[in-house]
Order: sequence, then structure tokens, then C-alpha cells
Amino acid sequence: MIFIKDKYRTFKNGIVYLAKTEDNYPVETTDTFLPYYTKNAIGRKQNKLINNDLGNRSERWMIGVSCQSGCPVHCKFCGTGRLRKYRNLTSKEIIEQIEYVINNNRDYNPNDSKEFKINLTRMGEPFLNIDNVKEAINIIKNKYPNTHFYLSTVGIKNSDYSWIKDNITLQISLHSLDESKRNWLIPYINKLSIEELGNIRTNSRLKTTINLTLVDEKDFDISILKRYFDPKYFFIKLSPLNINKISDKNKLNGIIQSNNLI
Ligand code: SF4
Repeated sequence: MIFIKDKYRTFKNGIVYLAKTEDNYPVETTDTFLPYYTKNAIGRKQNKLINNDLGNRSERWMIGVSCQSGCPVHCKFCGTGRLRKYRNLTSKEIIEQIEYVINNNRDYNPNDSKEFKINLTRMGEPFLNIDNVKEAINIIKNKYPNTHFYLSTVGIKNSDYSWIKDNITLQISLHSLDESKRNWLIPYINKLSIEELGNIRTNSRLKTTINLTLVDEKDFDISILKRYFDPKYFFIKLSPLNINKISDKNKLNGIIQSNNLI
């Protein structure tokens, strides 16, 4: 993996790195941090900052990795859609992204951070590259035992969720409680229905997150949410839309109007 030095974008609380594989496929990796109190999103019912102090990597350190270059799911709001080709990244290529960020921050040790989190939330659908994802998780877990892994999926049919346990958390991209609208937003045929998503059970010590990046108020229906997603197993998250060329092309705007820092 080659990281492209002049393609970094720096934010107040982190960096987006652009890299390419040996065979020239683009890869995006993020390195961000936040104050530790923002971890308590369930208790605070939101994760906004209370002041301008952004914390540092000894508090909450999050590395967002790609598991594919490009993505075959083609969500209507996702900037990954600008890439025509895709390919699965190897476990080595997934690990290289993590090690690159760690090596760029020698003042911090992941084992000493109050939270060290690997978000499999950049490019790609982890369950379409599950063997490499699992292998990368096992290798990183052995090296940095306090790592919290966070996987986001649209809910690929026939996936196994039983291995998601302990410090691994699952997020499901729901985005609309209207099945046909969800099918338009996430035009991947081989995915679970809303009802089937509600039957997912993991062995994680944390609840499964249901992520709703709402683009229309009509996409929210509390009765369907209550019918299928038992609060014993699921935590509901409302997210802003990070606008990009693809979301603009599809004339999509998020209902939540605050911006993600990165
Ligand atoms: S599954 Fe994730 S990476 Fe793939 S198109 Fe949808 S939002 Fe983008």
C-alpha cells in the first residue's frame, strides 16, 4: 500500500489519508480523536461536543479503515459511488492502513488510549469481504488487545453474525423504514429486509446500532421501528449526511443538519 503524501486532508480532530494499492486501487483511511465523554452517546442521547476542546488520541482514538476499494453496493448518498471499479482488500492491506496511522502518531500508544477503536466504516461492505476482515481483526486484536472494532453493514443475506462478540460491535445501515425507499437508497439486491434486520443477534457486549441517515421525514416510522427493533438488542442512531458529489447528483440532503467533524 502506498500512501500519497500530497493527498492528505487535515481536520481539527484528525486526518483523512488517501493511499493506493500496488495495483493502483484507491483506498481511504481516517485518523480521528475526540474527548472521552463523547463515548457516552447513549447516556447523553447525542455525542455533541460541550466546548472547543477536541481531546487527543489518549482519550478516544478512532481509525476508519476501508475493507474494499470502491464498493459494489452503490448507496445513493455515498461518495464511493464515484469509483467505477472495486476490489476486496486483503487482510494485509486492511492492517497496513491501521499500522500506518499508528506509526504516524508515535507519541501515543493504542494500548494506553482510554478507547482505541477501529471503524470498518470507510470504503466497502465488510460482509462482502468477510474472510479478510475477520483475519485482520484477529491479528490487530492480538497486537492491541483493548481495541474496539466497529463494523457497519447494509445486512448482506446469509451472513454469520455469531462471531461478533465481546469488543466487536455491529452497525446496521437502515436509513429508511420504507422498504421500497430503502431499496432505492441501497440498491444491492442480496440484502436482508427490514424485518429480517430486526432478527439479527450478535454476541457483542454492546447493542447493535441501527443507523438512520434520514434524507426525508417520510422515511421515519416509529411504529415500524418499534415493531422490528427490540430496544433490548438495538440502539438507534440518527446521523447527518456527509454531502458529496454522488448525494448531490441524487439530490439528497440529510434531515439532521449538524456536520460531522470529519
Ligand atoms: S455500503 Fe457503505 S461504502 Fe458501500 S456504497 Fe453503501 S455507504 Fe458506501
